[in-house]
Amino acid sequence: MITLKNVVKTYDDKTVLKDLSVDFPDGKTTVILGPSGSGKSTLLRSLDLLVRPESGTIDFGDISLDYSKPVSKKQSFDIRKKTSMVFQNWNLFPNLTVLQNVTTAPITVLKRPKKQTEQEARQYLAQVGLAEYADRYPSQLSGGQQQRVSICRAVAMNPEYVLLDEPTSALDPELETQVLLILEDLSKMGQSMILVTHNMEFARSVADKIIFVEDGDILFDGTPDEFFNHPTTRIKDFLSGIT
Ligand code: ATP
Ligand code: MG
Repeated sequence: MITLKNVVKTYDDKTVLKDLSVDFPDGKTTVILGPSGSGKSTLLRSLDLLVRPESGTIDFGDISLDYSKPVSKKQSFDIRKKTSMVFQNWNLFPNLTVLQNVTTAPITVLKRPKKQTEQEARQYLAQVGLAEYADRYPSQLSGGQQQRVSICRAVAMNPEYVLLDEPTSALDPELETQVLLILEDLSKMGQSMILVTHNMEFARSVADKIIFVEDGDILFDGTPDEFFNHPTTRIKDFLSGIT
């Protein structure tokens, strides 16, 4: 479980996260929803310290941090080891093959044995239908294929949590479906995930828990059934596209 308490993040004079407290359960998929600019990415990035809030605390299994205090290199390494972020634009290394993209970090950062890591990476690639692509370069792949590689790259780090920030928003609908199916599989396998998406149908099918963020506040924290089937007036408006 990851628990955030009283998290505040300000950019210049704008408070983007306003005293947020929320938890993300283990083995579940939590979906973060909300209008553009509401603070979703800031919240997600606070979890792996890509963003540093000014105050509040994060409890992450055996690690507890106070955001207002200096964080040691070891604490920051330990927390990052527990998470892997999948970005919107997949960010693969263009000069490395697909296989190398998946194995580089486990080998160099986690010091895992090369042979075994490569074997596992080939299995992950096979699971997402890319067994044949291991020795190609990212530029030789479609957007959907590249995003599938970036999901394998995240999973290959064996993180406790996979974090995804609009993983399919740069893809056309057909490629999006391929990627969403893979994320649904991961979710069913019990991988802890926290994801931001604008795709409501996907949110509904994959989420164990939904958080709705608006203006840096959490307006809803509960089940998908409650969110979609018994929405408040505000959530009804959001769902019907009136943001
Ligand atoms: P979207 O759905 O458009 O991705 P979001 O909910 O992810 O939006 P955030 O990216 O978390 O929103 O941004 C929340 C607010 O913080 C926005 O008003 C944004 O302009 C502001 N913001 C985000 N990053 C920075 C930054 N590095 N410097 C200044 N302001 C920022
Ligand atoms: Mg965002």
